[in-house]
Amino acid sequence: MRRLFLAACAGVLLAVSCAHDKAASSVPAPPFKPEATGRGGAAATIDVRATAAAIEILKDGGNAVDAAVAAAATVGVTDLYSCAIGGGGFMVIYLADEQRVVTVEHREKAPRALHRGLFYENGAPIPMPEVMTSGLSTGVPGNVRGWELALERYGTRRLSEVLKPAIRIAEQGFEVDETFFEQTTRNVERFKLFSSSAQLLLTPDGKPRPVGSVFTNPELAKTYRLVAKGGSQAFYRGEIAQAIVGTLARPPVVPDAPRKVRPGVMQLSDLADYEARVREPVKSTYRGYTVYGMPAPSSGGLTVGLALNLLEGFEPASMSRVDFLHRYLEASRVSFADRTAYVADPEYVDVPVAGLLSKDYAAERRKAMDLASAAARELPPGNPFSFQEDPSFLPRTAAGPSASLGPSVLDVPNRETTHISTTDKAGNIVSYTCTIEAEGGSGIVVPGYGFLLNNEVTDFDVPPSPTAPHANIPEPGKRPRSSMSPTLVLKDGAPVVALGSPGGSTIITTVLQTLVNHLDLGMPLLEAVAAPRVSQRNTPDGKSQAEPEFIASPEAAALKERGHTFTSSGQIGAVTGLRFNPDGTVTAVAEPKRRGGGSAMVVEEAGR
Ligand code: GLU
Repeated sequence: MRRLFLAACAGVLLAVSCAHDKAASSVPAPPFKPEATGRGGAAATIDVRATAAAIEILKDGGNAVDAAVAAAATVGVTDLYSCAIGGGGFMVIYLADEQRVVTVEHREKAPRALHRGLFYENGAPIPMPEVMTSGLSTGVPGNVRGWELALERYGTRRLSEVLKPAIRIAEQGFEVDETFFEQTTRNVERFKLFSSSAQLLLTPDGKPRPVGSVFTNPELAKTYRLVAKGGSQAFYRGEIAQAIVGTLARPPVVPDAPRKVRPGVMQLSDLADYEARVREPVKSTYRGYTVYGMPAPSSGGLTVGLALNLLEGFEPASMSRVDFLHRYLEASRVSFADRTAYVADPEYVDVPVAGLLSKDYAAERRKAMDLASAAARELPPGNPFSFQEDPSFLPRTAAGPSASLGPSVLDVPNRETTHISTTDKAGNIVSYTCTIEAEGGSGIVVPGYGFLLNNEVTDFDVPPSPTAPHANIPEPGKRPRSSMSPTLVLKDGAPVVALGSPGGSTIITTVLQTLVNHLDLGMPLLEAVAAPRVSQRNTPDGKSQAEPEFIASPEAAALKERGHTFTSSGQIGAVTGLRFNPDGTVTAVAEPKRRGGGSAMVVEEAGR
């Protein structure tokens, strides 16, 4: 996504403002960098223009929150298939002055008229692809309110200021690269179903816009301008809200569409009433580090915390790398059994947070890890409720833990999302994951407004039986459980590392594996990010998904001898992160290769 630079313009910031120059835009870009070390602030994202937008805001005196929102809004232009104002996200913020961590949760929520029954037909769950590309899949978007709330409470700039870089790029355009082309190609048939999506995203003859062509989105620029002028109210009330509700009620399906598209049930009041939440982070400890993550409705912080607690019982220095990887996979399997059973929207379900994070519970759950041979198997959940500090804490459903889901019903691989990492000269840090769920979300562009609507409702679980209990079933007004895991690690009160990733439920294992690579196996952060990935998520087949490079490794061969089985997955995740070095510099890190490579920048490069 990131190979757009205009040689006619000197430097990244100028490149952004010169992007309308079509002659210059075809000039090959200088390479982006996946790592940068320096002072005065830093940013890493999957897209060079988004990183540049964050650095522009930092250089202008904005703080890490301002920069993160500027980067997210820019991703909404240049990587509109991953995160945009039609979606939601989770932001973990370190406030340097107060030495405090807060989170801004702006997850999409189910419309009030949405209920479980809508996801079954003739007693069976509606097939995933049908739900995904439909009005039914769209949750009430959270990003605009989340951005505004984060800026109001913890930022120094207004939405109107931080949206400027994104508006400029939407108007002036950017050059389509291989990644953008491939993302469009994978979704052509979905986009062709909707006149608005085809018009914005495809050529007049229904093909992906070619690599090297200039993509402009004046309608999104107009939408951003409305938000810049009117704040979040301009999004959640008024013409944008009406356009969203109208689009979902009557998706703009082309005549002779080859398939049925279900309408949604969102009302204007769902948008008008949307609230982002400031939530306490999930806090756990690991070998002397303090780990902060996102609480429910994301399962990220709790699952990472539990897995690390399990791993804390083993000393990496005392064993081979293969032995430790074996434990990493088993710890992940055990944590996912609990995550799937117990974590959901905390406003609807009593999530046993203290129990899941209790060191005693981890000691108990460690017994479920098979240290000798990890046969492919699906583990049942444990009972964290008996480890709650408050013994009267009981699951709200008399039926006990969630029903088994069987083979995934509303779960697909190849999901998209994006992670943004920023820090400023004062030492504030933002670790921010945002999404529209699948690559291209619901596939539906709001006509005249230039953005795709999310399909986040597909993150609810729909058990095979319409009456089986489950913590994460669709319910009116509920937030679907997420796996997004923006993470921050401190030691003795000082920041050490911040990171996160996209990748659906593999987000959790990617964050876990990268932390283990860095904190336990001693890899520098860039190496920890680049290392081949393997993901164990307690799926019914018991197998681990792994990248081909991992499957081809000697470690994988040794793990197979210990009973592990792997399925090849293609690329897993796309991490960005920050490493806070002992000398006071910060190293910003992005993927060197995955998703076409990301971009890391600092305000002042070290040594200059
Ligand atoms: N919707 C997913 C979640 O909230 C993220 C999708 C992705 O990362 O691709 O967990």
